[in-house]
Amino acid sequence: MTAIGTDIRMLLFPRFCKVCGNKLGKSEDHICTVCLRQLPMTHYDPMALNPVMQHFVGFPAVQHASAFYFYTHGNKYTSLITQSKYSDKPEIGQYLGRLAASELEKSGFFEGIDCLIPVPLSRWRRWKRGYNQSEWIARGLAEVARLPLTTDNLIRVKHNETQTHMTRDERWKNVQGIFAVRHPERLAGRHVLIVDDVITTGATLMSCAETLSNAVPDIRISIFTLAAAQND
Ligand SMILES: [Zn+2]
Repeated sequence: MTAIGTDIRMLLFPRFCKVCGNKLGKSEDHICTVCLRQLPMTHYDPMALNPVMQHFVGFPAVQHASAFYFYTHGNKYTSLITQSKYSDKPEIGQYLGRLAASELEKSGFFEGIDCLIPVPLSRWRRWKRGYNQSEWIARGLAEVARLPLTTDNLIRVKHNETQTHMTRDERWKNVQGIFAVRHPERLAGRHVLIVDDVITTGATLMSCAETLSNAVPDIRISIFTLAAAQND
């Protein structure tokens, strides 16, 4: 589109920052420059034993784990996840996935990884929402890291209850046996990157990692979440 065409489009269809609501400029996408500069990034990578990785200590299949930014209740950035999940705006996740991947690439986070596996939703939840937000985040990562996405192998076989108000023990029980691997032989000896939107207690991701390593011989697993929940 020509510059004039872009100007007219911007005038007729202004776009707004998904964080602060201010009008976006021509070169801005989804998030304005100010909000982007203030994004509370974790800088967990390349710290080997960062707080996300600490959830998986004693789990030899897990190689690396990281999260892009902090998810703190009441913080203006929490709306990025809720919009990508509940407001039919999954492209925000894809955009943030691209941003995160550009950061992760600097430390070689993707080296040796064979494919990306988004944490699957149950068929019911996916049908209700129309998409899997973690898949869109993984799409953004995959574009920058130039890695394939595998969405048909790890599946969610149980529709578990929402975990928001559960204790740590209840969450752990709630995620037991919810995942399954359809074709373990295709992942044998591979290094996979599991992708999710937010890590809270790590119970869901641990269940994913456990299912994969029980089913697949010699699998190596890394973990990436867009955000890491902070205690209130
Ligand atoms: Zn903004």
